[in-house]
Order: sequence, then C-alpha cells, then structure tokens
Amino acid sequence: MADYLIVGGGSCGSVLAARLSALPGAEVTLLEAGPAWLPAEVPAELVDPAALPIGPDSRWVRHFPVALADGISGAVPRGRVLGGSSAVNGCYFVRATPRDFTGWPAGWSFDEVLPAFRRSESDRDFTDDVHGTAGPIPVRREPPERLSVTSAAFTRACLDAGHAYCADHNAPTASGVGPVPLNVEGGRRINVAAAYLAPLAERANLRISGSTRALGIVFHGSRAIGVRAVRGGVEEFIAADHVVLCAGAIESAQLLLCSGVGAPAGLRALGIAVVAPLAGVGTGLADHAEIGVPYRLRAGLDDGSVPVLQSMLNDSTVELRPYTRSFEHLADTVHEPRRMLGLALMAPESRGTLSLATADPAQAPVIAYRHLDAASDRAALRAASEVARDVLERMRAAGVVAEIDPDYAPHDDWLRARLGTSQHMTGTCRMGTADDPLAVVGADCRVHGVDGLSVVDASIAPTPISRGIHATAVMIAERAAELMAKDAGAPPSGGSSSVSGVTTLLS
Ligand SMILES: Cc1cc2nc3c(=O)[nH]c(=O)nc-3n(C[C@H](O)[C@H](O)[C@H](O)COP(=O)(O)OP(=O)(O)OC[C@H]3O[C@@H](n4cnc5c(N)ncnc54)[C@H](O)[C@@H]3O)c2cc1C
Repeated sequence: MADYLIVGGGSCGSVLAARLSALPGAEVTLLEAGPAWLPAEVPAELVDPAALPIGPDSRWVRHFPVALADGISGAVPRGRVLGGSSAVNGCYFVRATPRDFTGWPAGWSFDEVLPAFRRSESDRDFTDDVHGTAGPIPVRREPPERLSVTSAAFTRACLDAGHAYCADHNAPTASGVGPVPLNVEGGRRINVAAAYLAPLAERANLRISGSTRALGIVFHGSRAIGVRAVRGGVEEFIAADHVVLCAGAIESAQLLLCSGVGAPAGLRALGIAVVAPLAGVGTGLADHAEIGVPYRLRAGLDDGSVPVLQSMLNDSTVELRPYTRSFEHLADTVHEPRRMLGLALMAPESRGTLSLATADPAQAPVIAYRHLDAASDRAALRAASEVARDVLERMRAAGVVAEIDPDYAPHDDWLRARLGTSQHMTGTCRMGTADDPLAVVGADCRVHGVDGLSVVDASIAPTPISRGIHATAVMIAERAAELMAKDAGAPPSGGSSSVSGVTTLLS
C-alpha cells in the first residue's frame, strides 16, 4: 500500500513524486495514463523546442472536444505521457506576478510561494534572491543574436511603439517586451519528468506505473482509500493512505465527478452516488482566450529552427506572442512565410464549465470555455487588436512583414473568427476556504468534505494568472509538497539530488 498514490505524471505529478519520495519512510506510487519512458532517454519526438508534437496523429497527447464560445467548437490537446503537457508544450516558463496572488487563500501570497518558485528552477541568466539557481528546471532567455527574424523585428517594433524593454519576464515587476524565459537547455525541451524524475531512477520507494489509467477514486465512507485503475486491459484496485490527483485541469475534475464529488443534482442525473456535495467542481474554468492574427513574412525571410516563442509583450492584461511558425505547422518543422501573432487575454472575466456527459470515465467531459462571454473581455481584445496592428504595421515598414490579415477590422465578429485558446486551463477544482461554496480544495490542497484526497495541479489555481500557467503549476506542486511534508512531520526537501536508494517500475 502506498503512503501517497499520485494520479498523473505530468508537470505537477512529476514534481510531487520527486519531492514526496524524498521524505523519510514514504512509499510513493505514481500512475501515468501515457507511456512512462524512464529509465530510457526522453523520446526524440519530445525534445525539439522548435516543434510541438500535438498534431492529430500524435501518440503523445489526447485531444478533447471543446466549445470555445457559443457556436465555436474546437479541440484541445493535453500531454499523455510521463511529463504530461510539459513534454509537448511551448517551453515558455514565466511566473505569475505578485498581484496574481490576490484572492488566493492564506499561505499562497507571492512572498510565501517565492521559495517554491525558486526551488523549481536554475536560472542561467539571473542569480539574485528572486531567482533559483539550484532547482531541477533550467531557465534561460535567448540572447539578442539568437533571436529569429520575426522575434527581433517584433521586439524592435514594440520598442519603437513606446513599449518598455523587459530584460526579465520573471522579475516581480515585469512588464513590456523582451525575451521569454524558456525551459530549454542545449537546444532541448526539458520537460518536468526529465528534470525531476530522471535523476531518481534508482529511488526504491518510488514506483512509476506507466500506461495505467485511474478510472475512479474508491471511498470508504468519506475517506479515499485508493483508486480503481486499468493497465493492459486489466482493472485493479490500488490502495493508498493518501490519493493525490495530478491529472490536470480537465481530468482531475472529471475524476472527482465520476467518483461522486461534485454538484449532487448533476451526479444523481447520471446515476453517480454522491460522496461529497461540492458544487464548485468544474465550474471555475478559466483560460486565456487567444486571437490569432495572420500575416506573411517577406519572401526569402526565414526564422530557422528556433523555439516557437522567443519574445513577447505582456502588460498583465494582454500578451502579444510572435510565433516563429504558423499555427498549422507548430507540430512539424515545415518552414514557410505564414505567421500568426497571438493576442492573448491575460486577465479574463469570462468563466467556463466542465461537466460530465456520461458516468463513464473513458468518455471525454463536456468543456465549454465561454471565451468572449464578458463584454469587458471583448473590449480588452478589441483594444489590444489595435496595439497588435500598430506593431505589425511597424514590422511591415521595417521590411519584415509582407502582408497583414487583409480583413483586419477589430470588431467582435473578427475576434470570433480568429478565436483560439492558450492551453492554460485553470480553476476547475479551485482552492478556497471551506465556507466558500465553490471551493473544492483548501489551502492545504485537500478536497473539502472528504479525507485522504488532495488535488495538486493547474486545476486548483483559484484565479487566472496574467502569465502562462506552467511555471506557476510547477510552483503549486513544489508548495504542496512542502505543505504535505510539514503535515507528515518532515522537513521540506531541498532538491532532487538529495535522494537515495531506488528501483522504479516502468512501462
Ligand atoms: C500544447 C500545449 C502547449 C502549452 N504551452 C505552454 C507554454 O509554453 N507555457 C506555459 O506556461 N504553459 C503551456 N501550456 C500549459 C502547461 O503546459 C500546462 O498547464 C501544465 O503542464 C499543466 O500541468 P498539470 O500537471 O496540471 O497537467 P499535465 O501536465 O497535463 O499532467 C496531467 C497528467 O495526468 C495524466 N492523466 C490524466 N488522467 C489520468 C488518469 N485518469 N490516470 C492516470 N494519469 C492520468 C496525463 O496523461 C498527464 O500526464 C501548454 C499546454 C499545452 C497542452
């Protein structure tokens, strides 16, 4: 029986498995639905930061059907492999700002979480008391001479338009245009499992079970006692003292609902017995709506093989992302002059929902983003479209851009026709005090109303943050591990190198 049974070996599950298995005497089991490649090298398709392996035929992701807004459907990928979405993402590793933590519960102010941010990273460019220098994830920014044609022209155009230069988007006061902190080293995407778990392949109290999908949490009364899981077509019960869901913002919420934790009426309608009546499960879904503005580079110009995003402009309300590939070719290495300037809404008011269509955990849940629902969101994006047009016009005047979206007309229909999402979903199991009717977990990450069950992943962020979520998701897992270690009476673990002894069971 495991002391800790972690469901999901993605960004957060990898951190938690590494940190909890460093606790003296702890037995940790990590279940991952996708392939667990350890102790071998990271699969070659997952290391190139110039491509995202998320195409329709990718074996490293699962695609979920979604409604982005009323009448606009789509599909979103999520990593389905050890490392989770960090194994397939854009390598943008930018922290939330101090202001983003307003509204988070006690224990989660910026000052309180800063040590967890620092523990996660080794910043290769900054070595002050804000950045980490000994953590598992390497973070670096591209120097000016390595910026691609698009990234350099975008930076220049923003500066000419009067935006401030931001040398470090991970500084607490960051705002403006500058290089993106990237979890890339030696030209390779460093996913969280590679950073945290690969060095621990010999740790005997850590068992990693790949290609193993949890189907539901098993309760005795209101205490979680393990999970039902399937591996190679065989279903089994895996017992644990403490079950921790790290299945991501989609599947942690789905697992709770399928297991009887959610709004009672919806559960009963599907024949699911209610274990804990938590109305908030699936209700606080937030993401950064993203408008893709198409344009063309001048013939003969090429970005070469560089990370998909090297520079950006962020003022905490919107983020402009000059991708170095067209959206159609993010998943491969085709070089062509079509480009997309991403225009993302970083402080959205709109909230979506995740619900069940059926009680079967193998079926995808119903995901409605409701992007653009709030009039203030549409107004912010319309205003940001003008900023983006100014930047693109300056890139055209500089001879880098040949053609800008011929239909450019920032009104609501134009926004809807170019609507996408940033893949930064949060809030489906949000953190809050027990007297908050929509809170799902407390500040200790334990699920309200039951024992022996926690959620630790992007789903618990109670409010959307004004940056990409990845660095903050990793921080959430670091902070949760620290709180769990205190709960277990152990001192927090300092780093992955402190671990000893182990055999890992891998698929
Ligand atoms: C294509 C893409 C690009 C992105 N780019 C960026 C970026 O550049 N910067 C940024 O800040 N953010 C980015 N994000 C978002 C960021 O990567 C994620 O928010 C973050 O990785 C989420 O971490 P997580 O631990 O919550 O979930 P995940 O990393 O998704 O991990 C969930 C894990 O749980 C496993 N799992 C799910 N269900 C089960 C089950 N029932 N049983 C067992 N295992 C299960 C999954 O297989 C997966 O490995 C991107 C996301 C995507 C999808």
